[in-house]
Amino acid sequence: MSNVLEVKNIEKYYGNKSNLTKAIAGITFNVGKGEFVGIMGASGSGKTTLLNCISTIDRVTAGQIIINNQDITKLKGNKLNKFRREELGFIFQDFNLLDTLTSYENIALALTIQKVNPHEIDKRVNEVAEQLEIKEILDKYPYQISGGQKQRVASARAIITNPKIVLADEPTGALDSKSARQLLETFENLNQKLGATILMVTHDAFTASYADRIIFIKDGKIFNELIKGEDTRKQFFEKIIEVQTLLGGDLNDVI
Ligand code: ADP
Repeated sequence: MSNVLEVKNIEKYYGNKSNLTKAIAGITFNVGKGEFVGIMGASGSGKTTLLNCISTIDRVTAGQIIINNQDITKLKGNKLNKFRREELGFIFQDFNLLDTLTSYENIALALTIQKVNPHEIDKRVNEVAEQLEIKEILDKYPYQISGGQKQRVASARAIITNPKIVLADEPTGALDSKSARQLLETFENLNQKLGATILMVTHDAFTASYADRIIFIKDGKIFNELIKGEDTRKQFFEKIIEVQTLLGGDLNDVI
């Protein structure tokens, strides 16, 4: 399996010499093409910092992050913006849809900016909407649809450009349990049917149990790793809970 993402011994420090926080203290891992990987850890363990560095929103202090054979820690300015726009897909906890655009327009926006021809845009939006079962809400505005539907629109928006990797930050964090389950089934679809590579940060064991592999972070380092393999989702969920216990308590309480 070829690697879409290679994180090589990265470190991230905040502050200055007298008041230094090592948010990431040496993390190395790979994500293969088509993999669905979860990152878990208690509050303050470094998950957001890690995701922000991979997202190119934040810069590492040391180490390399290779996405699709390109060292993104070396990219700057327009090249970095272009890379972010064309190679990465983002799904946030609070959806980040534009209120003045319909679902269709929100999903199509990245392609519109790239000046893709309207017929091609229409074809791609409809294909993705069909997969994610949101065709009937394409003409609606964010305020007219539910949280679960918003997150599926956000998922469609994230994959419409065929990004090399989709980065999701607590994607089920603002959803009720039924919508969360539907979104996770959507992620399974994205991953298994559309071949999307997904890296997702979550504190929630149920959400994490949909991934193929979980990387646990503690104090800015990798603490443990779990691979689903032949396990059922329920067996995997139970193993995740066991590691959470080792990590010291229920992560659900400490978001
Ligand atoms: P998590 O997402 O797992 O809750 P974070 O990545 O947000 O953890 O934080 C990891 C550590 O880095 C924490 O100790 C946090 O206080 C610190 N940190 C995060 N962002 C900043 C920042 N901008 N300035 C200073 N310290 C920060």
